[in-house]
Amino acid sequence: MTTSIVSEHETAPAEKNFLPGPVLLLGAPGVGKGTQAKALMAAYGIPQISTGDILRANIKNGTELGKAAKALVDQGTLVSDELVNQMVADRLKQPDTSRGFILDGFPRTLNQAAWLDAFLSGVAGALPVVGISIVVEYEQLLHRITGRRICASGHDYNTYSKPSRVPGICDVDGSPLVQRPDDSEAVFVERMKTFEAQTAPVIEHYRKQGRFEEIDGDRPVEEVTTGIVSSLKRLRRDSKQ
Ligand code: AMP
Repeated sequence: MTTSIVSEHETAPAEKNFLPGPVLLLGAPGVGKGTQAKALMAAYGIPQISTGDILRANIKNGTELGKAAKALVDQGTLVSDELVNQMVADRLKQPDTSRGFILDGFPRTLNQAAWLDAFLSGVAGALPVVGISIVVEYEQLLHRITGRRICASGHDYNTYSKPSRVPGICDVDGSPLVQRPDDSEAVFVERMKTFEAQTAPVIEHYRKQGRFEEIDGDRPVEEVTTGIVSSLKRLRRDSKQ
């Protein structure tokens, strides 16, 4: 574990003198954490670690973890802290996290945040975590989530803002578009309640720690990415002082 997480002495290929380090993308369901994590991954060559994606992959492959998580994920209820902490611990041991990583959808409870803080403080030379919270208003999130459609190879659409040419069919490969079971309005309402009760305090936790910025996510994707990249530079510069 001690060798895999960001050391100050390594250099970044994307931007020689910039080390992203551990980055938390925080925010409600649908704010665009996944989209922005992928953009940062491309910009800095560091991995996106999405606990939701790892859980969905396990469900699809019928693993023991997937069987334990399926009903909870389908209902929009949180999976236990122990399970997700272990998943993240295993993922952070991979060598591709050495220059940094983007956590997307984790931590989602104060227990997970305490676990992550303790885990990273045990890593020699690790840069401090920086938190970026993406903010989008409720009605907009409702449309983003309930309108979301995906094909089996991951091309994504939105019935409100980015419809496919033929309804229900992927423009790229002609495969059927499906809605994630947890993207229904009823489950969205549950996920928002869970977010307010359990994850909003996590955002406050990182806000109080100081290495934290808030970003307006109700703008074109590229503008949000530019905003996050600027935040990241400021936060890393400030954390060196
Ligand atoms: P997401 O794709 O991040 O919206 O996550 C989808 C679902 O996976 C959530 O509604 C939860 O059921 C589960 N999940 C993802 N991340 C976590 C986490 N950090 N803690 C607990 N459950 C999670």
